[in-house]
Amino acid sequence: MEYVKSKIRDILDFPQKGIVFKDLTTAFKDPQALKKIGDELLQLYRDKGITKVVGIESRGFIAGSVLAYGLNAGFVPVRKPGKLPADTISMSYDKEYGKDTIEIHSDAITEDDIVVIHDDVLATGGTMAAAYNLVKSMNPKKIYVNFIVELEMLGGRAILPAEAEVTSLITY
Ligand code: AMP
Repeated sequence: MEYVKSKIRDILDFPQKGIVFKDLTTAFKDPQALKKIGDELLQLYRDKGITKVVGIESRGFIAGSVLAYGLNAGFVPVRKPGKLPADTISMSYDKEYGKDTIEIHSDAITEDDIVVIHDDVLATGGTMAAAYNLVKSMNPKKIYVNFIVELEMLGGRAILPAEAEVTSLITY
């Protein structure tokens, strides 16, 4: 993972002043780093019986799709409001400034599914906590949670439900 870490770029003051944005596009565009991320995710989840990978818009779609393909699982997008074409269920959550909402197709997950929800970066955890609650409301057998990068200082892990098995490939 040191190689992948060396390919992640820090962007200061993006998208607003004071934020150090972990830009993973520089890792995704590097063939060896992308392969390493995919291999590592597969290693973590290959024996868990995963049937669906849920990716959070939009950076969770990239490695989430790689993982779904490798596991012979399906891929399900969680998106911002108004983007999904069929019936959806939605969840609102508090952000630093104001509220945000995410959606999933209401027929995307069944009670027979074993799910891993994936996003690129765990920051404050609000987005993943909302995605977890969305998926949980559809009663799958089990939900795992995964990130490529975890920003430990922001304490996002603490607001995720205790029963969520959270893994991150890289921590800062
Ligand atoms: P969160 O604060 O955990 O709800 O993060 C919200 C979304 O923004 C997640 O999809 C993260 O991937 C992304 N994000 C938040 N902070 C950062 C950061 N410092 N670098 C890169 N992505 C971030």
